[in-house]
Amino acid sequence: MRAQLQSGRELLVVKVGSSLLIDRRGRLRKSWIYTLVSRLVARGGPAIVVSSGAIALGREALGLAGRPRILAQAQAAAAVGQIHLARSWAEAFARHGGTAAQVLLTLGDLEHRPRYLNARATLEMLLERGIVPIVNENDTVATEEIRFGDNDGLAARVAQLLGARLLLLLSDVDGLYTADPTTSPDARRIDRVESINEDIEALAGAPRSDGVGTGGMISKLRAARIATEAGAHVLLASGLPDDPLGGLIEEAPATLLVAGSRPKAARKQWLRTLQQPAGRLDIDAGALAALQSGSSLLAVGVQAVHGEFGRGDLVTLVGPDGPCGQGLCGYRSEQARCIVGLSSDRIAEVLDEAGRGPLVHRDDLVLF
Ligand code: GLU
Repeated sequence: MRAQLQSGRELLVVKVGSSLLIDRRGRLRKSWIYTLVSRLVARGGPAIVVSSGAIALGREALGLAGRPRILAQAQAAAAVGQIHLARSWAEAFARHGGTAAQVLLTLGDLEHRPRYLNARATLEMLLERGIVPIVNENDTVATEEIRFGDNDGLAARVAQLLGARLLLLLSDVDGLYTADPTTSPDARRIDRVESINEDIEALAGAPRSDGVGTGGMISKLRAARIATEAGAHVLLASGLPDDPLGGLIEEAPATLLVAGSRPKAARKQWLRTLQQPAGRLDIDAGALAALQSGSSLLAVGVQAVHGEFGRGDLVTLVGPDGPCGQGLCGYRSEQARCIVGLSSDRIAEVLDEAGRGPLVHRDDLVLF
């Protein structure tokens, strides 16, 4: 698994906590960032960085000494800090011949299906072009109820969204221990966790908020559960060394939480569990054969659209011999009706907007 850190074609998500990025005086640790970025660029495969640090970087400008207690203060601090944070990542990638992009997400963006599909399409487009998205929570607009709250959870959801194979959670601890290593001299680090059960969760201890970062082991395990269920292995490792990725490639200590299955299989399993379709698409034999060979469902292969549904809603697929699958439709029902039978290059002529690709993307459908 660690070989994936050195080179690899599969998507790697790296989450970097505030306490690694910001020094005691509230300054960004630029050389640390540059070293990490040089490793990511040298790796060559697609990568996403989930970066905290906006609030910690912005609080000085607001005259705040510790972690802001009032939400509006934290949000204002994030607004100031995020500019610096994004610029530093962009400069570091540019220095190494790469390109970074800023992506700010809220929980609502990933829970609301149409926005979820948009976020995924944008991130996929960036990754296809070799650009590295730098993701953070959109702190300035996220209120308590719609917050991820900590970037461990955000990183796990991003890994799930894009079917990442490895999620690296870098923080100031080098893994999961059998007891709190700061108070128990006998505490042992666990190298490998096959499944996150109650016994493992019981090892996490109390949540922590130490002035710079948030989260602690509980939030890491919660995030790891989401990611491993979605098919991503999770590596909990220390980001304190100057070159953490280099160290991990050379087998520095860490805890690996093993994924249950591959990302694609996990997603298909989830799609299979969905019930209550909002509509139905009748497809022809040619389209069914294309789906069976792993393609997406294109409008040209659809004969009729039934029901009223929104973008991202579940629809049943009905072939010449009856129901044959289900998936999340990339178009609203009224749009889908306008484009049935059309080849993809004609969709923009009929809809006011440019088409959004296939009617049902291959990653969003399962065949029965
Ligand atoms: N989004 C917050 C920030 O950039 C960090 C949340 C966290 O510490 O996990 O400051």
